[in-house]
Amino acid sequence: MSARALLMIPGPIEISDAVAGAVAERPRAHTAPDFVAAFGHALDGMAAVWRAPAGAVPFAVPGSGTIAMETAASNLVDDGDAVVVASTGYFGDRMAEMLRRRGARVTLVNAPTVGDVPDVDAVRAAVASTGAKVLFATHVDTSTGVRVDPAPLAAIAREHGALSVFDGVCATAGEVFDMTALGADVYLTASQKAIGLPPGMALWVASARALATRAALRSPPPMSIDWQPWQPVMEAYRAGKPSYFSTPATTLGWALAVGLDEILAADADPAKAMAARWEAHARTARAFRAAWQVLGLKLLPVTEAVTANTLSALWLPEGVDAPRLLPEVRSRGVIIAGGLHPAVRERTFRVGHMGVVTGRPDALRLTVRAVAEGLAACGVSADVDGAIAAFDGAYAR
Ligand code: PMP
Repeated sequence: MSARALLMIPGPIEISDAVAGAVAERPRAHTAPDFVAAFGHALDGMAAVWRAPAGAVPFAVPGSGTIAMETAASNLVDDGDAVVVASTGYFGDRMAEMLRRRGARVTLVNAPTVGDVPDVDAVRAAVASTGAKVLFATHVDTSTGVRVDPAPLAAIAREHGALSVFDGVCATAGEVFDMTALGADVYLTASQKAIGLPPGMALWVASARALATRAALRSPPPMSIDWQPWQPVMEAYRAGKPSYFSTPATTLGWALAVGLDEILAADADPAKAMAARWEAHARTARAFRAAWQVLGLKLLPVTEAVTANTLSALWLPEGVDAPRLLPEVRSRGVIIAGGLHPAVRERTFRVGHMGVVTGRPDALRLTVRAVAEGLAACGVSADVDGAIAAFDGAYAR
């Protein structure tokens, strides 16, 4: 990490030195033998990180999280299909709008209040009564800091013969998600969050059931986001052979192999490596929550059970606004984010805590200090040392 301000927004995030080194290399051809080997290895790494079931296919294509969402919407849904979106914020609402544009009949199931999750029985009833083909949910909605429990949602989909799709853009590799154990059909993300790369890649794993659904689609998706031409490319690289449909993001593909290797290096058993990865995020989140409590900051998520480990979405104290607080925090060496959800945008701010920083208590402590001192500079009484002590105590446990 360089001397520039620490990037603690909920994506893009700080990346490791090894990933930064990989990104800094000169571009490789998509056919270069070393790239072929690395990209195939990266796709294998995705299958391990996602805990993907047999028959599922990992995809890594140029793009963003929005493109990953779009590809799921347009490969699984035809004009007139019924779908259910369990929304926990801005990105769930975006998913619903995408599906409407695709011509789906969308039933949106909202949370009773911003900061909460939709009632599971209401989701079940919506899936059952509409005969939904697909159930969509956002694992962690970055606008609210709310995490859904994917298990009951994936189970509802299975019980009703529907597919389940989870937007993991602010969750994948930071929150517990075992695609095989859940029986989930698509788990999608982008490179710039807990995966630990710069922006630029859309990543997802699709189950055999999801791939069969694409094969049976009446109206094919736009070619650039169609799974069908991409699938043989991914399979070829995993078999050690170059292939072409559209130029892969070779630099990011090269770096993806490095980044996923770092995640999986925690243990020879990928399941244990992922458990360690998820726990590092849980521990970091607990420590931040301890500090926020000392500072009198309240989380937007209504209970701890629905609070994400990858970011903190916090109410601004009375009399403080983000345009004032953020520059104060920035002048202390840390970049945090303002609010995003339209209903609470002016009244909230967000601190991301995912990826490599979860193992860097110095960086995390600097963040607590910058927020605490920033609040004090805005006229809020803030126990800076108390917050850091609470952070340290919880992080050490
Ligand atoms: N879903 C979630 C949960 C996100 O946090 C984001 C990005 N903040 C997106 C989707 C969209 O990703 P992108 O900005 O890369 O298009």
